[in-house]
Amino acid sequence: MKQDKTFERIESLFDIQLLAPVKVLVAGCGSGGGSVALQLVMSGIRNFTLLDRDTLGPENVIRHVCGRRFIGSKKVDALMEILQDRNPNVNVKKIDTDIMNFPGIEEEIRSSDVVVLATDNEPSRYRINELCVKNEIPFVVGRVFTRGIGGEVFSYRPGLGCLACLESFLQRTTYREGIKEIDLVSDEEREKIYGMEVSEIKDSPGLVVDISFITSFHTRYVLDAVARRLKERPKYLHLIDENYLVWGNRPVHPFKKHFQLQRFTLDRQDSCAVCVAKGGGDV
Ligand SMILES: [Zn+2]
Repeated sequence: MKQDKTFERIESLFDIQLLAPVKVLVAGCGSGGGSVALQLVMSGIRNFTLLDRDTLGPENVIRHVCGRRFIGSKKVDALMEILQDRNPNVNVKKIDTDIMNFPGIEEEIRSSDVVVLATDNEPSRYRINELCVKNEIPFVVGRVFTRGIGGEVFSYRPGLGCLACLESFLQRTTYREGIKEIDLVSDEEREKIYGMEVSEIKDSPGLVVDISFITSFHTRYVLDAVARRLKERPKYLHLIDENYLVWGNRPVHPFKKHFQLQRFTLDRQDSCAVCVAKGGGDV
């Protein structure tokens, strides 16, 4: 029992054993999901399902936890190797497919304690949001804003607001303006301002250092979601009050300075179709 020294330096501080049965579904194994998964392994999480259909390309290695030796590998295969390299006792199930065309997704969600939502498109985020709300499974989503100016992390806690609630809330804030600014200008203006094609702008989420702030918050919120489901709360994992966080990396609209942090508590919105479908919206 004592021969495994993997967690020797943190186990007296942090109840690693309490995390042993926890199961995490990682939906999207790109730079965000991969980094969160690695941080979770190093925090003592052992059971993972990795879901992604992409292959690691040479353009990925400056942001992804998997380096050059994995170029040409499926991201689920590469990430599994990285996770097992940190802890050979992790259990990994790989699903190399597209979330939108995967009929078993609801079953995977239902059998997870928390979902790391790290896909790069809205339809898959909303599909997982709906299924998590329906099955009362928490998820945490992280998004890096265009050009890595900042990002956001939202933690869905059953009974509170969901991702669709968040969207309606954000319409009334300056953050949505900041994120969508690029969509509001014409194609010519975009080229003039940024010298890049629209697809490049949307696909240029910044340096790994910009993304790292977001993945650290993302991981923290996943550990918080895990701790909320355990009968005994692990030491050191204090409850995080708010369920939504916006982080600014640098003073670019809507941020005013470097390292700007805003926190919010998002309640269920009466107008949310997803939460209404789930029922129990009446108080
Ligand atoms: Zn909702």
